[in-house]
Formats: sequence, C-alpha cells, structure tokens
Amino acid sequence: MTYHIAVVAGDGIGPEITQSAQQMLEQVGRTYGHSFVFDQVLAGGAALDALGMPLPEDSLKRCKQADSVLLGAVGGPKWDALPGHLRPERALLAIRKELGLFANLRPAKLYPELKEASPLRADIADAGFDMVIVRELTGGMYFGPSGRKDSPDGQQAYDTEIYSVKEIERIARVAFELAQGRGKRLCSIDKANVLESSRLWRETVHGLASEYPDVMLSDMLVDNAAMQLVGNPAQFDVIVTSNLFGDILSDEASKLTGSIGLLPSASLGEDKRGMYEPIHGSAPDIAGKGLANPIATILSVAMMLRLSFGLKQEADAVEGAVQRVLESGARTADIALGGPSVSCAQMTDLVLAELG
Ligand code: NAD
Repeated sequence: MTYHIAVVAGDGIGPEITQSAQQMLEQVGRTYGHSFVFDQVLAGGAALDALGMPLPEDSLKRCKQADSVLLGAVGGPKWDALPGHLRPERALLAIRKELGLFANLRPAKLYPELKEASPLRADIADAGFDMVIVRELTGGMYFGPSGRKDSPDGQQAYDTEIYSVKEIERIARVAFELAQGRGKRLCSIDKANVLESSRLWRETVHGLASEYPDVMLSDMLVDNAAMQLVGNPAQFDVIVTSNLFGDILSDEASKLTGSIGLLPSASLGEDKRGMYEPIHGSAPDIAGKGLANPIATILSVAMMLRLSFGLKQEADAVEGAVQRVLESGARTADIALGGPSVSCAQMTDLVLAELG
C-alpha cells in the first residue's frame, strides 16, 4: 500500500521530531512492504514568515488531500505579539475544524522504567496507570460565542460553553468503542452539579450506555477528577470529556508520566483520516539543541498506523521498539533526572535499531 502523509513540521522543535517520525515510517515501510509518501506542508510560524499567514489555502488543501496529517508543533515567542487571527496556533484550530477532527485521543501511560521521573508518590507510581483521555475537539467553550462589552463595572468578557446532543453522542461513541477494545471502563467527566451543558452531556452519555452493555460507565465531576488523577490514576481506563476539561486534565495526566515529551495524540473525524501530533508545543527553549524527546511523535506515528491505516502489527512494532529502548536505560535529557542522556537523533537511531 502507498500512504500519502502531509507533514506539518512547524516551528521550534517541530522539524527535529517530525524528522524522527518520518524515519520511523520509512523503516516500517522497508520492513513491512509499505510506501509512505511525505508532502511537506507550511503552517504556523514558518508559514507566517514565508507567506504572511498561519495556514495558506494551499496548505489546507494538501492536508485535506492526504491520507493523514503528521504535525510537529507550531508557535513561539517570535509570533506572540501578533493579533489572534494571525497567531500560528490558528493554523491548528483551522486544520482541526476544516478536517472535521472532533475526537482527540490522548493515551497516558506510566512506563515502569520511568517511575522515578513521575512526580507521583512512590506507592501511587508503583500501581502504575494506562489510560486514554478522549477529548471533544471542535465544540464547547473554545468555539462558542465570546467577546467583550462595556458594563458599569468596567469591561466584561464572556466565553460560552455550547454542546448539542449530536456532538456529545459522536464523541461518546468514540469513547465507548475505545473502552470496548481496552479495559471496558468508561468515566465521563463533567460539572453537572453546576453547568447546564454538563447536565445535557451526562444525560446524553447515559442515553447511549445500553448500546454498550459490556462497558461499565461512571461519572465524575471535573474537580474530583483533577484530584483522582494524582491520588489514584490506576482507576482510569477511558475518560471522555469536553474540549475545555480535556485540555486541562490531559496536561495534568501527561505530567504524571514523567515528561510531556512522551505523550502522543490522535485527532479523528468521521472517516479514517486523522491528524497525529505530540501533545507538547514547539519548546522554543530547547529548539535546535538536539534536546527534544522524539518519543511522543514516534508514538503518534504508531497511533496513525493503527487508527488510520489499520496496520496493527506495525503499530505494535513501533510501540515495542520504544518500550525496549526505555528498558535499555536510554534517556533524553527531559527524563534523565540529571543523569547521562542521549540526543534527539541518538534516541531516534536507538528506536530505529530496535524496530529493524
Ligand atoms: P511546550 O510544550 O512547548 O514546552 C513546555 C516545556 O516542556 C518546555 O520546558 C519544553 O522544553 C518542554 N518540552 C516540550 N516538549 C518537549 C520534548 N519533546 N522533549 C523535551 N522537552 C520538551 O509548551 P510552551 O512552552 O507553553 O509553548 C511553547 C509554544 O508552543 C507556544 O508558542 C505555544 O503556543 C505552542 N504550543 C503549540 C502546540 C501545538 O502545536 N500543538 C501545543 C502547545 C503549545
């Protein structure tokens, strides 16, 4: 098979880590007889510098034409002063919206070898955790009406959380189906004691439960969930939640794994195509120094192979190679706890060698 992949390297460490990911795909192609064709697409700060806009029309078109999109990261201090519609991050929101990528899957797993890098207390880290956070990605407060107006008390600002039954059902179905293929436990996180949008969320998720009798559904309020993640993360299998809550909780979960440089993500729509990216940003503080951890992006490639291309064996091979390299003791600086470390390129070579 030939797969066409739009590569948005982006800014900061983006080019370094997407380079690692492409090497991984080429190796998978050689070993398993697939062909991966890469189309380098400009977006983010790189597109602003070259063409004066964060997501040129041609870039969007090429992302839409591809079988999947691989993204490094966009943004950086150089573009921070620009108005909202010209910020590099606009490119991300536009690609998600235009490709209809409403489901964001963020696995968070504690590798036993990295327990010491986790901020969790030793007994909690010993219990380990392996969860997937399913975050709604194209609705809720990030897309509802927002603005400012004058009031007798000075300016007022508002953002609005809006969810429809259709939006909640489609994200809940993704989560139920994911849970069916894993530990069969789904926790829906909301703020139903206060927010009307959360009450509709809860009702709607429960309305689907009878279609998935093998999945145990529970609810949790988001404030409790923030505590449970650090107190007893092992209890979670699949979590489903809104755009805003998912954004915050998945960053919290990422920190518990030891480094944000380890966590991949997939953004999926109605068809098989998706956008795959590490959950971290462009890390301008370490860009160009060879210090980036490429594992989050490499694991994003594994998610692409499994979820968009149905290549389970190949995805398992990539994840297994990462696991064995971590078992061997190799560490990039972010997870080395001050000990000896390897560069981004060296870590990539080690995973490639294991994969081969
Ligand atoms: P960040 O995730 O880029 O960095 C946070 C910290 O984690 C930094 O200390 C960084 O060095 C470290 N880090 C991140 N990725 C790492 C990796 N792979 N290996 C080792 N260390 C890593 O977050 P930030 O500093 O808040 O944001 C920097 C820029 O990235 C901003 O312009 C922000 O808007 C943008 N951003 C982009 C995305 C995206 O493109 N998806 C996501 C988040 C932030």
